[in-house]
Amino acid sequence: MSHTPFREAVINLDALANNVAQLKNAIGIPNLMIVVKANAYGHGMIHSARAALAGGAQWLGVADIDEALALREAGLTAPILAWIHAPDETFVEAVTAGVTLGISSLAQLRTVANAGAAAGLVARVHLKLETGLSRNGASEPEWAQLYAEAAALEASGTILVEGIFSHLSNTSEEDDLAQAVIFDRGINSARAAGLAPQLIHLAASVAAMTLPMLRYNMVRVGILAYGISPFEHRTAAELGLTPVMSLRTKVIATRRVSSETGVSYGYTYKTSGETTLALVPLGYGEGIPRAASGRGPVLIGGQKFTIAGRVAMDQFVVDVGDVPAAVGDDVVLFGDPAQGHPSVTEWAEAAATISYEIVTCMGGRLTRRFTGLDS
Ligand SMILES: *Cc1c(COP(=O)(O)O)cnc(C)c1O
Repeated sequence: MSHTPFREAVINLDALANNVAQLKNAIGIPNLMIVVKANAYGHGMIHSARAALAGGAQWLGVADIDEALALREAGLTAPILAWIHAPDETFVEAVTAGVTLGISSLAQLRTVANAGAAAGLVARVHLKLETGLSRNGASEPEWAQLYAEAAALEASGTILVEGIFSHLSNTSEEDDLAQAVIFDRGINSARAAGLAPQLIHLAASVAAMTLPMLRYNMVRVGILAYGISPFEHRTAAELGLTPVMSLRTKVIATRRVSSETGVSYGYTYKTSGETTLALVPLGYGEGIPRAASGRGPVLIGGQKFTIAGRVAMDQFVVDVGDVPAAVGDDVVLFGDPAQGHPSVTEWAEAAATISYEIVTCMGGRLTRRFTGLDS
């Protein structure tokens, strides 16, 4: 393929490393895990993981073991925690690759101990407690047996219970503190059962920033590292963070049209006077939300416009009025507001979703271009 990429997610690895350094400083606890699941929220997992470590992260977090194994294959030796497992997972590959496992049930605990025994290695586990999110994790009535078996397996040398963790619902401060009460009970009863977990972690980005008493000695941070604020009333810039991803393309066609010209499928937009339409080659095939039809902000030649009509699979149209737009002009959908770009947050609002979904869904025919660090 010799075509120049004309749809790019540009990933600023220096910004990512600087964000991590900034967060480490702001949060000020011994262990910072940067979460790089789902292709690092669409930013490219391997490059992002390297940048996170360069910024001072001690741990990497992923959902799947396959993600952890890909990091190992790329030569990353940092501790990695993986916590979502297939029903028939054996854990043998993960244990062999030195991947730490989030363990949510007695069945998983027994399987991971067997994997440790089979590999002749000590399987490192973090026990996951259900404290109110109603997802995975062992719930309170299960703790006694889980802890008793874990202690026995630890004594037999097949596992090490290195950590205990849970995850918050971010519903309200009150709800999060209620989860923490249950979590504390879980930690105390684990210690009473003879376990000595070194790493205690509950907070993701939101609580890590807003509830210092829930930081324990590790936090798992995702969205903030990518320079995106999860808060309604505080921008990334106000948190000292720089957006890592910018989404860029070029105008591929322009057309001068008269008033009352229907634009894109269903004519949900009609021109209100003679005007110029610019065609942008990005669509829901790349993860541009169709829900942002008629709403998503777009920068063309340094001026901000709004998508005209429906987002299609491969393209959308922008009404640029009398601005002299031309084929090849730079288009930025989102990036760093400090450079005049629309923000991911504006896109999330336009599509009635959260910024996490906007960046994580970027893909399809997009090329990721990495800048900064060792890219
Ligand atoms: C995704 C995830 C995180 C990171 O959440 P952010 O809000 O992006 O910081 C932390 N912990 C768990 C268990 C997760 O699934």
